[in-house]
Amino acid sequence: MQLSTFQFSKFYHALHLISMLLVVSFFIGIWTPQEIHAQERRIIDVHLHALSLKAFPAHVDTMAGYKRPESLEALRSRSIDQLERFNIVKAVTSGEPELVKNYKEAAPNRIVQGLWIPIGLTGDSLNRYLKSLPQWYRQGKFEVIGEVLTQYSGITPNDPILEPMWSFAEQEDIPVGIHIGPTFTKTSGYTPLKMKEVLKKHPNLRVYVMHAGYPKIEDMIQLMSEYPQVYVDLAGMLFGLPHEKSHQYLKRLVDAGFANRIMFGSDQQVWPQSIEESIRVIEKANFLTEEQKQDIFYDNAARFFGIGKDKTLGTID
Ligand SMILES: [Zn+2]
Repeated sequence: MQLSTFQFSKFYHALHLISMLLVVSFFIGIWTPQEIHAQERRIIDVHLHALSLKAFPAHVDTMAGYKRPESLEALRSRSIDQLERFNIVKAVTSGEPELVKNYKEAAPNRIVQGLWIPIGLTGDSLNRYLKSLPQWYRQGKFEVIGEVLTQYSGITPNDPILEPMWSFAEQEDIPVGIHIGPTFTKTSGYTPLKMKEVLKKHPNLRVYVMHAGYPKIEDMIQLMSEYPQVYVDLAGMLFGLPHEKSHQYLKRLVDAGFANRIMFGSDQQVWPQSIEESIRVIEKANFLTEEQKQDIFYDNAARFFGIGKDKTLGTID
């Protein structure tokens, strides 16, 4: 990717989180100490990021409620510490390609390399980027496509410009994670239902809707009802929303009968503690049975990504 694209996407990525926090949150939940069972679990994080500390201006720390580590190395090692501490055996990681590579080198069996479609890529640059997918895949540069951030540019999933990506993913059986959720841009008409056309055209596509289409719960439920192959992740809302709100949203999905298609995601960016907090929110959801928690933390993602079936995520230590 060109340097200018990087800089552009960094800037927008900062806004990505700010908008997520602004739109969905005016209060960060403060957790009362309670026992975490997570250490006894196996977890898959389907939505982790490898970003530079410069991705966000310093004041965002206050909004997020965390202080970022002092260096890039500390960010990486503390993020990986969290993976180890909470037995997160796989983490689908996207961000700046060089940094994703560094994470992979630091924890080769846990980190699954995601390829993001960065914010700010449109027109010819997006075309060129998407045309490179087959080559980058052959070179082993990614295992999963995502996070696809085209919503920020107002590009809907059914836009013809994305067709080469969907076709390639379906043909090679590569999972795709697409951001459908809060943004800082005016994409108010944007809903999970924009995936319908793509799913009709590509019935064998493995795709998950990141952020579970928040806050468009009705549309999300409709899409999942009509297309049983669609999975979602809970990333961002778990640490970005007051826990009552994320519980409410999660409960709607579970009550609609989708507990076996919801996956855990942290959306960790530059605050490693957000992984831990995201896990706590699921643990605290008293309306979930123990089995449903296990589904969300691990089983659903293991099925979706095909762990042990020689598909993208490979083996577990
Ligand atoms: Zn996102």
